[in-house]
Amino acid sequence: MKLQGTMQINDKGHLEIGGCDTVELAERFGTPLYVLDEQYFRQNCRNYYRAFTEKYDGIVLYAAKTLLTLAVCRMVAEEGLSLDVVSGGELYTAKKARFPMERVYFHGNNKSAAELKLALEYKVGRIMVDNPHELQMLDRLAGEAGVRAKIMLRLTPGVEAHTHEYIKTGQIDSKFGMVIENGQAMEIIKQALALENVQLTGLHCHIGSQIFELQSYAHAAEVMLGFAAEVRRETGWQPEEMNFGGGMGIYYTAADEPQPVSKYADMLVQAVKTLAQAHDLIVPRVLVEPGRSISGPAGTTLYTVGAVKNIPGIRKYVAVDGGMGDNPRPALYQSRYEALLANRAAQQPQETVSIAGKCCESGDMLIWDIDLPTPAPGDILSVSATGAYNYSMSMNYNRLPRPAMVLVRDGAADIIVARETYDDLIRNDVVPERLGESRVVKIAGAGR
Ligand SMILES: *Cc1c(COP(=O)(O)O)cnc(C)c1O
Repeated sequence: MKLQGTMQINDKGHLEIGGCDTVELAERFGTPLYVLDEQYFRQNCRNYYRAFTEKYDGIVLYAAKTLLTLAVCRMVAEEGLSLDVVSGGELYTAKKARFPMERVYFHGNNKSAAELKLALEYKVGRIMVDNPHELQMLDRLAGEAGVRAKIMLRLTPGVEAHTHEYIKTGQIDSKFGMVIENGQAMEIIKQALALENVQLTGLHCHIGSQIFELQSYAHAAEVMLGFAAEVRRETGWQPEEMNFGGGMGIYYTAADEPQPVSKYADMLVQAVKTLAQAHDLIVPRVLVEPGRSISGPAGTTLYTVGAVKNIPGIRKYVAVDGGMGDNPRPALYQSRYEALLANRAAQQPQETVSIAGKCCESGDMLIWDIDLPTPAPGDILSVSATGAYNYSMSMNYNRLPRPAMVLVRDGAADIIVARETYDDLIRNDVVPERLGESRVVKIAGAGR
């Protein structure tokens, strides 16, 4: 496992993150446990802020869907980033964390009237409109609220990012945004420009996720600026700002080679400038929406090893006390991860094993074929790069309580998400009167 952020191996041979011994963290807070490296998370925010905001006056929106808690909101706010939210729930979280609402951008392909009303009431910075239904609804709601909502339109530029099929969103056959190629994008722009209660400030696209080919972004810029020139010819309007979404790839395994953020920024902003000049457009402000590349590498999950099952000549299954409930990505996208035994972090690998989760699904495998020192019950397994799309996608399948999350820094560890309890699991369950206990006893007594 590659050591990232503040990770190091201490005198005891234990993995340390943020100056905290992870074996002690496991003991103190229990497992599974999400560990968030504060310094690393902030460093990732800063890299983006420097590369886009300080250098080019661009705006960096942290994609909340990758990892959002009240404490995470506070850090993002402090680092000067803006926030991309996609639901009333994420919006509410930002509000409760007192995130500056003018720095909130509201995304989503099917926002409800209630969500749009909430966004207007909170006075978010931008609403990223996805489709004509939403546009009409927003215009009506903004009119009723007596405000003019600033909006950007989400477009589908038909650019293919080099990444896994399931997380590709830039192609034409997509549930997100309006297609440029078939005229639907031009149509919605004309509609937006004709409405009184919305003000169109710019255009948006998001070409995919876990992208390593910076060229994909230059290609997106080409399509978007070319289209902007067409829009100006037809309508006279041109975008003041252009949002190119997120998608920068991170290191999960040795197969991944992340690009430096500064290179991404220089390449994208230069492409936008050059293209704007070539098309005789004003140079739009560049917005980006990184999620995974900020939160992903800063997160680690600790598990305790339980049953070790060897099927001679076939495979050794090492079961841990979590799995698809806290990290659905391997089951969902065949995602790959690295791991080590945190309590024997300095030891050389001795054999190839596979890490199984504890859910009742054969597909609940966290890692296939990883080299580790021979694992034994009680060992602490640390899986790296779990900061993005883990906690945010976690679930209670098999009624497993969701893990706690601790924020670590300079030897201090603070809970930022409490571990779910069994009572949390039944909190919303309701037993109707007719299924009351006396009734159950009666049926049982009826003699079956
Ligand atoms: C998911 C998403 C992002 C963030 O993507 P990452 O790959 O996590 O950087 C940004 N913008 C939009 C619209 C998204 O859907």
